[in-house]
Amino acid sequence: MLYLMKEILTDAQQRGYGVGYFNGSNLEMVRAYIRAAEDTRSPIIIGTAEVLLKYCDFDWLAPLLLYSARMAKVPVAVHLDHTYTFDNIMRALYAGFGSVMYDGSALSYEENVRNSAEIARIAHPMGVGLECELGKVGQASGEVKNVYTDPAQAADFVEKTGVDFLAVSIGSAHGTYIETPRLELDLLKKIRAKVDAPLVLHGGSGLSDDDFRNSIKGGIHKVNIYTDIITAAINKTRAECAVNAYPDLNLKVEAAMYEETVRKIKIFGSDNKY
Ligand SMILES: [Zn+2]
Repeated sequence: MLYLMKEILTDAQQRGYGVGYFNGSNLEMVRAYIRAAEDTRSPIIIGTAEVLLKYCDFDWLAPLLLYSARMAKVPVAVHLDHTYTFDNIMRALYAGFGSVMYDGSALSYEENVRNSAEIARIAHPMGVGLECELGKVGQASGEVKNVYTDPAQAADFVEKTGVDFLAVSIGSAHGTYIETPRLELDLLKKIRAKVDAPLVLHGGSGLSDDDFRNSIKGGIHKVNIYTDIITAAINKTRAECAVNAYPDLNLKVEAAMYEETVRKIKIFGSDNKY
């Protein structure tokens, strides 16, 4: 069932659980996510991101994502994650994605507000939800530093832009952590007090189960997971390198991603919701 991210996250907010967002660049990834969601009776959000388009061109991937969502027995939203260019956002709108993330977090506050508001003005009449990022979720490698989200600025940002979902920077980071991350749950509480829109946690891979549970309790309703899934895939590939038939390897890797997705769904508490 193809749902809008807004419908899925509104329910998550009302009933107090988190929903995973998973990037899929090929058939096996997408199928692993959908099967995990169906078997746990969980809503799920799937999609791709601008930097991942090198793995699979948008024109190939968009029909796969949308078809898989429509055929699924549970609510599945199709979303375009981290997008920096106007053109790719327009492609997602045209293709029928229910939501997009415009990431202007590297720009000045004023530019981020201006660009985000402009995209909201185009997306909203088409029924498309918009996620934006305020503060900066950095790289776990330390290459890009975290800039924590300021609660007062978050309220101002949502009011000026009309964004539907806000990605916040509270201590998580993209990629594989070198040091154990520490989430600023007090900061999350302050942001939650000022912003009604569902909040999004990026850089979810590598966080502890308690980190997830506490941040969902604190107002996070979408959790972006990527590294943990591709790590499960690569570990399985290494373990099964003696497999003779490439399609069999694909199935084993898909099963590993499925297992990791099921695990995450259960931690987020979105299982048995449909
Ligand atoms: Zn992110």
